[in-house]
Amino acid sequence: MSLIRQNLQAITATIVAATQESGRQPGSVELLAVSKTFGPEAVLEAVEAGQRAFGENYLQEGLDKIRAVQEAGAPALAWHFIGPIQSNKTRPIAEHFAWVHTVEREKIAQRLSEQRPVDLPPLQICLQVNISGEASKSGVAPEDVAALAHQVAALPNLTLRGLMAIPEPAVEFAKQRAAFAQLRVLYEQLRADGLALDTLSMGMSADMRAAIFEGATMVRVGSAIFGARNYNKA
Ligand SMILES: *Cc1c(COP(=O)(O)O)cnc(C)c1O
Repeated sequence: MSLIRQNLQAITATIVAATQESGRQPGSVELLAVSKTFGPEAVLEAVEAGQRAFGENYLQEGLDKIRAVQEAGAPALAWHFIGPIQSNKTRPIAEHFAWVHTVEREKIAQRLSEQRPVDLPPLQICLQVNISGEASKSGVAPEDVAALAHQVAALPNLTLRGLMAIPEPAVEFAKQRAAFAQLRVLYEQLRADGLALDTLSMGMSADMRAAIFEGATMVRVGSAIFGARNYNKA
């Protein structure tokens, strides 16, 4: 059995166990396979094992991979853009991805909405939030999330689905949970405020269990599926 298939099975078992242990509904956590730095052949191996949703961080790499995987005859896949967005690069994102997890400004959301082709379903959006202690400086500040969420929800060719965060890495389970809890509280506030959100995109290879305990509906897992990344390979 291929290593990728084996890893996918192990992660699926971890997700099922954490979902059950935390008293959540079976099937309420989706796995997004983060394939950045890995080639189309790795994606095709995961597809072969049944995986259908993939996340990419770097636009050109992602576009090349989407094309290569399509040309190889893969079934329909859901591609999620999860990297930083430059405002002059929104068009190919709007044209080639189904989801974007890293919206942090209204201007970017407006461009994505304007540039979304009319023959495609609305682009599915998560707002990236800079929860306290976040390592990267990306994301909207927690106090500004509500205003941005209402602006994005009003745009015609986008569907606001929820929130995403990348907390500062922590070793301790309790610390991991505390960071994810901050995002969950914001999410619940927005829902109480009338926004129809259903997605909490949080948890990666090292902290997905804690994220599931705090309500993650989508975990973004890369290295635990595909192995260690080599950024110098390019
Ligand atoms: C790379 C990346 C991941 C996956 O990280 P792993 O630690 O390899 O699981 C998830 N989310 C984002 C935004 C990433 O950039």
